Amino acid sequence: MRGCSTGHFLNALVTAVRLVLLVGCLISLTSIWGLGQTESPVTKINAAAAGAEITTERLRGNLSVLMGSGGNITVLTVPEGKFMVDAGIGVSCAKITAALNALSREPVRFLVNTHWHWDHTDGNKCIHDQGATIIAQENTLKRLSVATRVEDWNFTFDPWPMEARPSVLFKTDKTQQFGGETIVMNSFGPGHTDTDIVVYFKKADVMVLGDIFWNGVYPFIDNSTGGSIDGAIRLANEAVERVTDKTIIVPGHGPVGNRAELVEFRDMLVGIRKNVSRLKKQGKSLDDVIAARPTAAYDAKWGGFVIGPDLFTRLVYQSL
Ligand SMILES: [Zn+2]
Repeated sequence: MRGCSTGHFLNALVTAVRLVLLVGCLISLTSIWGLGQTESPVTKINAAAAGAEITTERLRGNLSVLMGSGGNITVLTVPEGKFMVDAGIGVSCAKITAALNALSREPVRFLVNTHWHWDHTDGNKCIHDQGATIIAQENTLKRLSVATRVEDWNFTFDPWPMEARPSVLFKTDKTQQFGGETIVMNSFGPGHTDTDIVVYFKKADVMVLGDIFWNGVYPFIDNSTGGSIDGAIRLANEAVERVTDKTIIVPGHGPVGNRAELVEFRDMLVGIRKNVSRLKKQGKSLDDVIAARPTAAYDAKWGGFVIGPDLFTRLVYQSL
């Protein structure tokens, strides 16, 4: 053990301590910067909802869309009461209630959740407290009944309170008559999550797609709870097959759309999946794939909302 004297040992120890302090300092700085860069979309969307006004857009027949609190909210207003699809974020309860009352004084009788995500279900308690029965695909109840971690949002949700959970469940389909309208609810399997459903108002020819469709913006794909890019493409295809040029299509996020916009969304998913898949098959790491900008051709149109090009690339890469 030549050179291993006490002096050498002390010098080495001092050097090691300095190194540990330096590394510790760098790690803490990195995590502060990292926090700034990776603020959870949940926090951003809640903050946006808290400050937002609710706007109401009339569709066709007695259907309207309320926007401004998380996902789009669709409302059928008839003398028997209201039939509502998705509930927005709880912080908007008073504003959503005011918007509902402006449509009519009749109460909400039924609320359907298009999937489990909080920006569509956090308002469940608000609407249930007004007397509504909550309907959803059976997996939505499972997700809302336990603490659920969404890795890509860096966020863990507590279980929803009992009264905010759906009490009427179905697995593949359910049809309900309400105020002269026929409402058809279908699950076509997992896509954006493993809880997604399509809600079709037959007489009005209005289809509500929840987060199967984000009109003009990159979608979130929840790899943590059963979603995948392939599932998202499959559900977009199912939706395209079920609409005509006359169908009004309500996306989960973005403006009310039509078949051509839904087709463009599907084609964007297919195009980016192809680009990311090719790079991943070459053995490239996630960082290398992001650096190669596989979404570049689409970013100007689709990249301006909560899900930016880098995050969307990551979501696709991780699910392939
Ligand atoms: Zn969602």
